[in-house]
Amino acid sequence: MAEQQKRANQHVTTRMVQANGTIDPQTGGVVPPIQSSTTFARNSDYSQISPNHLYARDDDDLVRLGEDILAKAENADAGLLFPSGMAAIAAVMRTVPNNGTIILQSQIYWGTTKWVRDFCARREINLHEIECSDMDVLAKTIGTAKPDLVFVETPSNPWLRVTDIAQAAALSHEVGAKLVVDSTAASPVLSNPLAFGADIVMHSATKSINGHSDVLAGFLATSDAQSEIWQAIAMDRHDAGAVLGSFEAWLLIRGMRTLPLRMERMCENTMAVATFLQNHPKVEAVLYPGLTSHEKHELATKQMPNGYGSLLSFQVKGDAKTALAVCAKLETFKRATSLGGVESLVEHRHSIEGDATGVPENLIRLSVGIEHIQDLIGDLNEALS
Ligand SMILES: *Cc1c(COP(=O)(O)O)cnc(C)c1O
Repeated sequence: MAEQQKRANQHVTTRMVQANGTIDPQTGGVVPPIQSSTTFARNSDYSQISPNHLYARDDDDLVRLGEDILAKAENADAGLLFPSGMAAIAAVMRTVPNNGTIILQSQIYWGTTKWVRDFCARREINLHEIECSDMDVLAKTIGTAKPDLVFVETPSNPWLRVTDIAQAAALSHEVGAKLVVDSTAASPVLSNPLAFGADIVMHSATKSINGHSDVLAGFLATSDAQSEIWQAIAMDRHDAGAVLGSFEAWLLIRGMRTLPLRMERMCENTMAVATFLQNHPKVEAVLYPGLTSHEKHELATKQMPNGYGSLLSFQVKGDAKTALAVCAKLETFKRATSLGGVESLVEHRHSIEGDATGVPENLIRLSVGIEHIQDLIGDLNEALS
């Protein structure tokens, strides 16, 4: 008991590194074993041999462990893992009734925008896509639309806009709406949206939480496990079966052991890259909340006290051709989608999204990894010259 108490008081870094301090009770192994069984035998009187093990859809110890580590990192009442970030988002959105109303931040992760548009059209849900980081726009839309749910992404991808979570939560709660925050770009190490009043925080764990570009996973956490919305989400996951596999959970837990360390290096590298780009004559603008020139730098510092993340966009002086030429010349930065992995990636978002979302043709998005900073800056320097 004393040992458990000590663990509960430990810093989130220690808990993540030690996967909550769990050791395999059978062997003393410091790494949890993979649970491969999907079903569990009963005693002759038909009672379960283990009360926590009936069928793998809900009874995977590694999924539970991963949920526990992440829920503690978010200081949450409860957490649920999903087989992808999109599955987590879909589970949240499915709580909105037909003919209900959703406010969705515009110009965010394209996969979210695309799926929510299709979903709302099918279900006759009123969808308002607005710039939620602008509090005047948000207040006005919430007042007139009376939404069931407000979904923001902060920092947003690829614009790196920062939304005031406390204000967005207060505005949402005034009309009885729930605030959901996609905090993927921050990770639980840099920001805890529930502490600012969000009802649900969402992560694509595919990104920095796993960090090695080899697992798809999603995560939701709530400040109130008894709330109607959370109960509906938990039931939906169980009944509809969008669960993470045991091996994926095992990989995810292994990846998380270095999350605090990786984030530290990524933030440091990204800040150096941002500063380099800001001073480069061929760069028109750098979008990174860590720069004092960012319009919400102070807010970002308040909401992300441990760093500004590994996502950064910049605009080159020129057009799509110029931006694509820079991308083509990069070698250390790999041309691939996704973010938050140990390896640095570059994306020309306009080539993917086209004109549907207003991403400028000269915008280049970077996900800065943990490589040596000289190689990253050297690569960018060559590509820009
Ligand atoms: C990747 C991503 C998602 C979707 O997550 P998947 O794990 O790819 O399904 C959602 N939001 C943001 C901000 C993302 O970067």
